[in-house]
Amino acid sequence: MSFFRDLVGERASGQDEAAGLVKNEGMQERLIELRGVEKSYPQGGGQVYVLRRVDLAIDEGDFVSVMGPSGAGKSTLLHILGLHDSEFTGEFHLLGEPVHKLGRKQRHELQKRAIGFVFQSYHLLDELTVAENLELPLSYRNLKKSEREAIVADTLDRFQIVGKKDLYPRQLSGGQQQLVAVARAIVASPKLILADEPTGNLHTEQGAEIMQLFQKLNSEGTTIIQVTHSETNAGYGRRIIRMRDGWIAND
Ligand code: ADP
Repeated sequence: MSFFRDLVGERASGQDEAAGLVKNEGMQERLIELRGVEKSYPQGGGQVYVLRRVDLAIDEGDFVSVMGPSGAGKSTLLHILGLHDSEFTGEFHLLGEPVHKLGRKQRHELQKRAIGFVFQSYHLLDELTVAENLELPLSYRNLKKSEREAIVADTLDRFQIVGKKDLYPRQLSGGQQQLVAVARAIVASPKLILADEPTGNLHTEQGAEIMQLFQKLNSEGTTIIQVTHSETNAGYGRRIIRMRDGWIAND
């Protein structure tokens, strides 16, 4: 029996249209392009590089797993892709926008518009309840309060966390916080989902259901990039990018 009620079921009809998020069926466009991206930190009078000459192209509709040993630069890359980190050199184009040239406000707008991010350490807002955490990404969409509430209720139901909706993150277990973090990343149907070890704190069965959910969202057009140490999780994706010492390895 499925842990999540209808987690991988259809979204309520009309919901995506209501959110203005209808996808271009069958169109393959370049979503992400990195050219010569590098990142370094000052250390001992010199620089230590954590990303080296990273060239990467990801089309809309891809599902990529980033793998590699600890310290390889996976999270650093994901945070740059998620527009959380602008301290890099090189070119980064996202949805046709030159991110490396954008100011803070424009980057933030683009992030809110296009990206759902699952942080390794969840980053739920402590002073907001579970339901309020889920409603936040929807507040950046052009939706009525009643529409936002309906989407939050549907998402709580799909993740079987209705009973937790009025609790604060500190009142949840690590696994429950991770579920809420995944729910928050997908609630506003973003074009791009970035997930840093999204199932690290979940039971095997819950982890598999999150991967099935990602696969379903991907089959509907959502682009997904996940960092994972799990070959099983990587098996749900379309391709694997391997990193080592800040370099993308060419298999
Ligand atoms: P991964 O996700 O593959 O485990 P990370 O992207 O987290 O790797 O880290 C890559 C490297 O960057 C590591 O060697 C880490 O120590 C280094 N690093 C991360 N943040 C900083 C920082 N603020 N100052 C110096 N080095 C850092």
